[in-house]
Amino acid sequence: MVAYAAARGITVVPENEMPGHSAAILRAMPELRCDPEDGSANVYCAGNERTFAVIEQILAETFDLFPSEIVHIGGDEADKRAWAHCPQCRERMRREGLANLDELQSYFIGRVAAIFARHGRRLLGWDEIMDGGLAASAAVMYWRSEEGDAALGARLRGAAERGHQVVMTPQSCCYFDYHQDANWFHEPSGWIGTVTLRSAGSLEPIPDGLAEEHHANILGAQGNLWCDRIASFPAAAYQLFPRALALAEAAWSLPAKRNYRSLAARIVTHLPRLAALQLDGRYPDGIEFRHQEGVLTLEPELPDARIHLTLNGPAPTDNDTIYTAPFRVIGPTLVRAAIVKDDGTLGRSKSYLACDLIDCRRLSMVRATAAQQHHPATGALQATNREFWLTASPPPPFPHEFVCDLGAEEEIAGFIYEPRADGVLDGNILEYELLVSGGDGPATAARGSFSGRREVQYAIFEHAASGRIVTLRILDAVGGVSAISRFKPFRR
Ligand SMILES: [Zn+2]
Repeated sequence: MVAYAAARGITVVPENEMPGHSAAILRAMPELRCDPEDGSANVYCAGNERTFAVIEQILAETFDLFPSEIVHIGGDEADKRAWAHCPQCRERMRREGLANLDELQSYFIGRVAAIFARHGRRLLGWDEIMDGGLAASAAVMYWRSEEGDAALGARLRGAAERGHQVVMTPQSCCYFDYHQDANWFHEPSGWIGTVTLRSAGSLEPIPDGLAEEHHANILGAQGNLWCDRIASFPAAAYQLFPRALALAEAAWSLPAKRNYRSLAARIVTHLPRLAALQLDGRYPDGIEFRHQEGVLTLEPELPDARIHLTLNGPAPTDNDTIYTAPFRVIGPTLVRAAIVKDDGTLGRSKSYLACDLIDCRRLSMVRATAAQQHHPATGALQATNREFWLTASPPPPFPHEFVCDLGAEEEIAGFIYEPRADGVLDGNILEYELLVSGGDGPATAARGSFSGRREVQYAIFEHAASGRIVTLRILDAVGGVSAISRFKPFRR
């Protein structure tokens, strides 16, 4: 593989994960865990000298196989909780004068960097290796691009200014295991999150505010395709293309030369060429639905594509209404729409429920075990009030309930429920009852069943119900577990 790539001018950079994501080696060598008996820990013990001896052996073998000057050591998503309770790790922190677990991780990466130096190689890691101080000579892959993480962006600029090399691969543009369409129901199972063609093409490799003399430290961009949910080569090609083309243009052309309309048109002409190479990509038939103040706007992924649509009807045909301009929607309305592709046929039909959603102030779960109530996902739910994940086992028995506090009394006309966004059917609700608590206590507003399929699900009540507390009681779900994503009531 190394020789095949080298003959084509490509350097293969291998990645050996540490200190976290190391479940495989820790299963084989449990003595490298903080607590050998703790099968759930996936992080090497940072206090145990044997850890660094074994890592040096592994890296020496890696260096023998791969001539690349740079080798990736991961460094991301290390669950450091085991370190906090480990006598060896605590002793290490005391002796090295380390104030916290981030500094212990930084110490760990520093030890690994010293191994690299002894072998004449350079270390590359995900941006977590900057936490607690970055080892000199290390290069960084920038991936955490959550909105509002300006502090990380500033540290990234700081790293480039101090001479560290940086590879840009923010998850908002570069994660090709994410869905390609926000309306993901017709996409293959993927990881949660969306990277559209437009976002792949919008990457700006040079961070804002980085002085020109440091631009050379931005090595370039990388697209990522993790294949844990990708079962075949055609499935991998589908995820890669055409987004890889858009990312290549973003990485290798000047900002002033970039134009999404032009890119999208050229991509359509590239798709048959890719197909001839047995790299069948996704046709960009997406439609973005924006519903603001009662007005619905449809924007096709291909900027000049014609859209046909139906309201509260079946999937559109080319005899149905052509979308021409934003329009007002009255009451909850199911919009189905499809674009006309360049060969004249219709793209896949997309569906969207235009309704006046009510935000939950607080979402909680009842009739779960104590362990499930304290599952980290519950915290994520309460942080965003948007998504709920129930991944704990054993699953709670049916029925169990998700309770949404709206913060104030509302007149509720129905509710929307979008199944879990990774596209796995397990957890999709089959049978439900919805209760609204008004002045007279909780009353059933609706009772029914959903298809369990990957599509937007909703219920419109026969009579609107007034109340502040909305309870979704789940009576049955696919696979005996419920996993909720986006459960929200809406107004009339
Ligand atoms: Zn330890």
